[in-house]
Amino acid sequence: MNKIAMKTPLVEMDGDEMTRIIWKIIKDELLLPFIDLKTEYYDLGLKHRDETDDQVTIDASNATKKYGVAVKCATITPNAARVKEYNLKRMYKSPNGTIRSILDGTVFRAPIIVKGIEPNVKTWEKPITIARHAYGDVYSATEMKIPGPGRVELVYTKPDGTEERALVHEFDGPGVVQGQHNMISSIESFARSCFNYALEKKQDLWFASKDTISKKYDHTFKDVFQDIYDSEYKDKFEACGITYFYTLIDDAVARIMKSRGGFIWACKNYDGDVMSDMLSSAFGSLAMMTSVLVSPHGYYEYEAAHGTVQRHYYKYLKGEETSTNSVATIFAWTGGLRKRGELDGIPELSKFADALESATIETIESGKMTGDLTRITSLPNPTKLNTRDFILAIRENLEKKLG
Ligand code: NAP
Ligand code: MG
Repeated sequence: MNKIAMKTPLVEMDGDEMTRIIWKIIKDELLLPFIDLKTEYYDLGLKHRDETDDQVTIDASNATKKYGVAVKCATITPNAARVKEYNLKRMYKSPNGTIRSILDGTVFRAPIIVKGIEPNVKTWEKPITIARHAYGDVYSATEMKIPGPGRVELVYTKPDGTEERALVHEFDGPGVVQGQHNMISSIESFARSCFNYALEKKQDLWFASKDTISKKYDHTFKDVFQDIYDSEYKDKFEACGITYFYTLIDDAVARIMKSRGGFIWACKNYDGDVMSDMLSSAFGSLAMMTSVLVSPHGYYEYEAAHGTVQRHYYKYLKGEETSTNSVATIFAWTGGLRKRGELDGIPELSKFADALESATIETIESGKMTGDLTRITSLPNPTKLNTRDFILAIRENLEKKLG
């Protein structure tokens, strides 16, 4: 069989722990036999990030700007325990945070729907896609521990040297403070990414914040969305038969639980981080959630929404059998390959991505799945496969499809 040729390389960002193991099996079994795979490889594994003082993460982000499409494996965000475990020079920032701040843009997360894995919320008939603003707020905040009495202020120094001050708190004992920021330009591109994505998917768009309490910060988000909607998207939305709906974050959360799904929920950075984990668990498994960072400049970075599945990795290291779900990581690859195919005019590449996705879904629907899914499936007598055998079962289906 002739392998599918590629033109432009995909930016490949390797990662950590169990997902690094899965990454290699996916490449060996599901990609390399069928595609003349062209990637520019960046090792974002924690050891190599430490060796390069995290320069590799910056290089990989810049490569994504150069080529346009990246596929990323899950990576460890170091905490104190990881600094010790890996004997790190310092506690590096989250690689995803670094990539997001270089590429800007919005992260869209959608569950992969298969028959036999029903959402916990009975009313959810269709997927809910979360759009997470990928810039600023608490993720790039400056924090300070306040040891004792004293005044904390926000100070804005204008280019002419004059100052504007606002009191944060007059401390009479120890405390903590945090300074957050965002930029109108980033909020605007967030809004535009969401409106465009809603039009592309022909789905309603919801947005929510805490504007009643945060009368300047969150209210700015609300105003920016409304202004851009009114001036640039209202007509297009009406022509498409979809709506833009703003409400308070509390109200949004309450309504989501009674909704039927099938819409896009735009969230501020923190809300998106937290709520996407809730949604993915409620839709079945964290391992069935896809994630793509779409920048307003047209760069795409595909990944699984879950982490490095540390507990499974330690079992794997002890030589014990694991049953780790590779679906979201497979869909990261198919997302990247399909987009590369679109951009480079290689329809066979996009068709291959479609075939691999349906082979994956059909494998599960035929009753062969990993342990996270056998625990929750409504299919009778499911077969629990180990990490490798699940991927091999997908390969069998894929080979049938590709003839
Ligand atoms: P996690 O790796 O997503 O795993 C949490 C739990 O969810 C697992 O222990 C497992 O449950 C289940 N799970 C997640 N993915 C699964 C899969 N593919 N197959 C089967 N079960 C799966 O999150 P974490 O344990 O909080 O974080 C581990 C590391 O990942 C951390 O160092 C964190 O920094 C990093 N992380 C990276 C990213 C990213 O790169 N995008 C995102 C999140 C976290 P059971 O153990 O009960 O089987
Ligand atoms: Mg999260």
